[in-house]
Amino acid sequence: MKQIALASRPKGAPTPENFRLEELPIPTPAEGEVLVRVHYMSLDPYMRGRMDDSKSYAANIPVDGKMEGGSVGEIIASNAEGYAVGEFVMGGFGWATHAAVPAVGLAKVDPKVTPITYSLGVLGMPGFTGWLGLMEFGKPKAGETLVVAAATGPVGSMVGQVAKSLGLRTVGIAGGPEKCKMAVEQFGFDECLDHHAYDSADALRDDLGKACPDGIDIYFENVGGKVLEAVLPLMNLFGRIPLCGMIAWYNETKEVDAGLTGQQIWRHALVQSLSINGFIISNYWDRMGDFHKAVGPMIASGAVAVQEDITEGLENAPDAFIKLLTGGNTGKAMVKVI
Ligand code: NDP
Repeated sequence: MKQIALASRPKGAPTPENFRLEELPIPTPAEGEVLVRVHYMSLDPYMRGRMDDSKSYAANIPVDGKMEGGSVGEIIASNAEGYAVGEFVMGGFGWATHAAVPAVGLAKVDPKVTPITYSLGVLGMPGFTGWLGLMEFGKPKAGETLVVAAATGPVGSMVGQVAKSLGLRTVGIAGGPEKCKMAVEQFGFDECLDHHAYDSADALRDDLGKACPDGIDIYFENVGGKVLEAVLPLMNLFGRIPLCGMIAWYNETKEVDAGLTGQQIWRHALVQSLSINGFIISNYWDRMGDFHKAVGPMIASGAVAVQEDITEGLENAPDAFIKLLTGGNTGKAMVKVI
C-alpha cells in the first residue's frame, strides 16, 4: 500500500518537499476492524492547519505521521460484525490507498443511492458546513442579501444555493472570470465579483456596494483578507456573520491585520449590532441527519448543483492540495486513489 506522510512542517505555503510518498505492507484488520481500499480521498483547507505545530481545535499531525483526512472506500476484509466485504464506508482513512480501522464510527455509503464522492463533498462535511452555518448562524430571511466568497467551492456553493432557494439575493465572490460565470450559471448567484480584478479592498467595496444596493444582511465568512475588509462597512443593522473560515491567511507565517484595525472591526460590530458566530463543524455532527433530509431532495431535484474537482492518483495529492489553498481547484477537491 501507499501513503503520504508529513515530511516537514511548511513555512508559509506548503511545498512538495513537505510531503513524502511511502510504501508499506497492507495492514491486517484486528478484531472489530475492517480493511478499506480507498477510492476517493478529500482535500480540505483545514488540513493546512494540521500541518503546523501551533495549538488549534484539533491535534496537529506529527512530523513523519500520515496526512489526515476523510475518504471513502470499499471494505476488502472485515473482522467486524455488520460490516461486509464489498460495502462502501466513509471515514478518516488519511492520505493512503488502504487503512485498517475500527468499524465503529464509520458511515456506510450506498453507491446505488448517490455517487460515493458526494459523501466527501455536497452531502459530506463541506456541504454540511455551508448548510449548518447558514441556517444556524446566518438566520436567512427572504428578501435579504447574502455575500459569500469561495463561491464555487463546496461550502460557498452550498451557502449560495440554499440561500437562493429561500428567496435571498445572493452575491458571490470568486477567483477569476470562469469561476464567476460558473457561480451565476451553475449555482444561481445573482451576481459574482472576481476578487483578482481588484487591487484594493476599497475598489472591491465600490462594486460590492453596487451589487448589494440594499446592503448586506449575511456575510458568510470563508476567506478573511481583502474580502472581509471590503464587506464589513457594508453590513446592515442586525447583520449576521457566520465565521466559517479565513483561508486568505492560512499560509501566513506571522499575524496579519485585516486591513481594518481591531478597533474598527469592533466598531462595525457594535454600531451595526452584528452577530458574529465562529463555528467548527465537528461540534455539530448530530445535525447531519437534518442536513441530509433538507438538502438530499434539493440535489435530487437539481436545485443544488454539484461541482467536483478530481485529481487522479495518490502521488498527485500534494500538488492538488497546494493548489487548493490558492484557488487552483474548481469545486470540491478530491483525489481518485484507485
Ligand atoms: P474551496 O474548495 O472553496 O477552496 C478554497 C477556496 O478559497 C479556493 O478555491 C479559492 O477560491 C478561495 N481562496 C483562496 N485564497 C483566497 C484569498 N486570498 N481570497 C479569497 N478567496 C481565496 O474550500 P471549501 O469550500 O472546502 O472551504 C471554504 C472555507 O470554509 C475555508 O476557509 C475552510 O477552511 C472553511 N471550512 C470551515 C469549516 C468549519 O468547521 N468552520 C469546515 C469546512 C470548511 P477562489 O479561487 O474562488 O477565490
